[in-house]
Amino acid sequence: MTDRPDPRVHVVWAPEMLSYDFGHGHPMTSERLDLTIRLAESLGVLDGARLVGAEPASDELLLTVHDADYVAAVRAASERGTPDPARGLGTDDDPVFPHMHEAAARVASGSVDAALAVWRGEVEHAVNVAGGLHHAMPGAASGFCVYNDAAIAIHALLDAGARRVAYVDVDAHHGDGVQAVFWDDPRVLTVSLHETGRHLFPGTGFSNETGGPRAEGSAVNIALPSGTGDTGWLRAIDAVVPAVLRAFEPDVLVTQHGCDAHALDPLTDLRVSVDGLRLAAERLHGLAHELAGGRWVALGGGGYAVLDVVPRVWTHLVAIAAHRPVDPATPVPESWRTFVRDRYGRSGPATMSDGTTPAVRAWSAGYDPGDDLDRAVRATRAAAFPSLGLDPELD
Ligand SMILES: [Zn+2]
Ligand SMILES: [Zn+2]
Repeated sequence: MTDRPDPRVHVVWAPEMLSYDFGHGHPMTSERLDLTIRLAESLGVLDGARLVGAEPASDELLLTVHDADYVAAVRAASERGTPDPARGLGTDDDPVFPHMHEAAARVASGSVDAALAVWRGEVEHAVNVAGGLHHAMPGAASGFCVYNDAAIAIHALLDAGARRVAYVDVDAHHGDGVQAVFWDDPRVLTVSLHETGRHLFPGTGFSNETGGPRAEGSAVNIALPSGTGDTGWLRAIDAVVPAVLRAFEPDVLVTQHGCDAHALDPLTDLRVSVDGLRLAAERLHGLAHELAGGRWVALGGGGYAVLDVVPRVWTHLVAIAAHRPVDPATPVPESWRTFVRDRYGRSGPATMSDGTTPAVRAWSAGYDPGDDLDRAVRATRAAAFPSLGLDPELD
């Protein structure tokens, strides 16, 4: 007989999480996290949360996903500034910074602690907005990501007894590192929705990537046309994600909420709004309750519109996980706007919404074979559905 879960959400947070920062002028600034936590605090979202810091992950934990010589290279970069471009360290995307190893290992253990708190039934939901570093590969840093906290957390769930873990990644970039780690592992379903690799880093994530020979159907990729906005983005999620998750029957859901699909993001060309991103988080939350006994681990990810987008999207995420959702019409508190004005010399957004109410046309109502978005969705359904026992032509 276990105790009932703590109704509070487990939120990985301590000021030390800000040490994961590639330095001035790099898009992956820890100000994203600082502004998020300040906004969540000012709206009272964290009042009911269980805030938990994290110590750097042990080598034992990192080695469940990463190669020993890569971890050694990160340490050398971290301690002596030694670059290792062959392992992605000291590149434009991943410049070396002091204490890089500790900072990245701290993000990883935060996600592992979050996942295990959910798995043990201490809480229903857990969030690590510093996590979601989905591009890191077993042997290389990539795309602002040093250690793949998402993959390490999924590995920890399997080690703790989870039989099937589903991972859904709505970042504008393909979740290539997580897919690579579990490519041939039928216990993990990886689903990634992203701007097509024809136009965006890392250049992978096409519909025909469906898993290795022992895990056919365990990878699902939706490569969206550049320029996709709320309606198409949510339509693609609705036409694929619930069906593949229901077929897979996960014990636990891990999600990555990079918010760089927003129209204002400087690195990508999708046109999603804060409201669309919030609705995706709501849908995934609902699926965790429907399919995984409520076991939900939500991670951050990309997002480079530091003032206008990231803090609002991730505050909504934490609020949803805390079962204290924030009405989109809620004004952004004046205290936060004053802080932003003082620090950045301009005002932040006025409300928790972009003022849009995305209306989504259901896939079951029909599709247009001449439409680029619908073609992308059809390609994914045709490639991924049969090995999951689903009919691409049915709802
Ligand atoms: Zn991204
Ligand atoms: Zn819930």
